[in-house]
This record gives sequence, C-alpha cells and structure tokens, in this order.
Amino acid sequence: SDDLTRAESQITRHPDYPEPGVVFRDITPLLADGTSLRAVTDAMYRPFAGGFDIVAGVEARGFLLAGTIASLAGTGVLPIRKAGKLPDPAASIEYTLEYGSARIEAPGVLFPGARVLVVDDILATGGTLAASQQLVRELGGELVGTTVILELDGLGGRETVGDHVHSVFTAAL
Ligand code: 5GP
Repeated sequence: SDDLTRAESQITRHPDYPEPGVVFRDITPLLADGTSLRAVTDAMYRPFAGGFDIVAGVEARGFLLAGTIASLAGTGVLPIRKAGKLPDPAASIEYTLEYGSARIEAPGVLFPGARVLVVDDILATGGTLAASQQLVRELGGELVGTTVILELDGLGGRETVGDHVHSVFTAAL
C-alpha cells in the first residue's frame, strides 16, 4: 500500500553507527507518524490475527510495538526485560552478542499454553529473538510466530529464529 511504501521510506540509514562498518537503521521517524505506525503494526500481526493470546516484546523498542499490536488485536503484553529489572523473574536466559553477552528475563504471567507472538523492530543476527523464543518456552507459552518491521538480509537471522517469521520489509546489508 501507499502507507507502507511511505513508512519504509521513513526508516533512515546511519552508516558507521554505533561503530565503524555498521549501518544502523533508525525507525523513530516511522514511529512518530501515526499513519505509518498504524500501517506497519497492522501488517506485522495480520498473518497471525486471531491466533495469539499475548504479544511479547523485548525492551526497549519491542515494548512500543508489542503495546501497539496488543491494542489493535485486543490482547495483553508480555514485557521481556533486560536482567535486573524484575523483582521475581520466572525465567532468565543468557545469550551471546557480537561482543560479550546479555541476559533477558520475564515475569511469570502466562497461563499454561498461552499462544505468544514475539515482536521486535529489526531482525539482524536473530540472537535476541532466538533468546526471547527460548524464554517464552521456558515460561510454558506456545510460540506462534515472530514478527519484525525490518529484516536485514545476509546475517542468517531468519535461520536462527526458525519457523513462522514474518517481516514487513526486507533490506540488503
Ligand atoms: P540481533 O543481532 O540479535 O538480531 O539484534 C540485536 C538487537 O539490536 C535487536 O533488538 C535488534 O532489533 C537491534 N538492532 C540490530 N540492528 C539494528 C539496527 O540497525 N537498528 C535498530 N534500530 N536496531 C537494531
């Protein structure tokens, strides 16, 4: 649609950020435009509509998308947090990053077998989303799919994340 075409043009490229050789994609101009935010979040969850009970998003950009999609779909949200922010995490996963490692945690709010849609802004290597999927399974949820605004081709993200991955836009590295 025209709205999606315009939304795609609002994702800006920033060479050599946050370090030399990396091209950072900034989605904040897209988020700031109500028509674009609506079109993109609608496209993110459409393939899974009616098939999930809750939307999980990773701190911090994933929170914005999870909240918006949950509101459109009439479901709740599962915030996946960086380590150390929850008083009583029910599951915790450490995963490797390009440099070093990170830990994410989630509260024990899922009912057994809850169908979970996992969302994030960008699929790069897929490490963060794969860890989120593992966390959802550890919480007793059923993973129904993973959806992102933009998939960066050539980093193996789709293979790492596995089945039922949907991306609204794709870009070459
Ligand atoms: P991963 O390599 O695990 O797929 O990506 C790590 C995290 O960094 C994810 O939350 C992903 O959304 C984010 N990320 C990776 N590359 C970019 C980028 O170019 N722009 C933005 N906004 N986020 C990115």
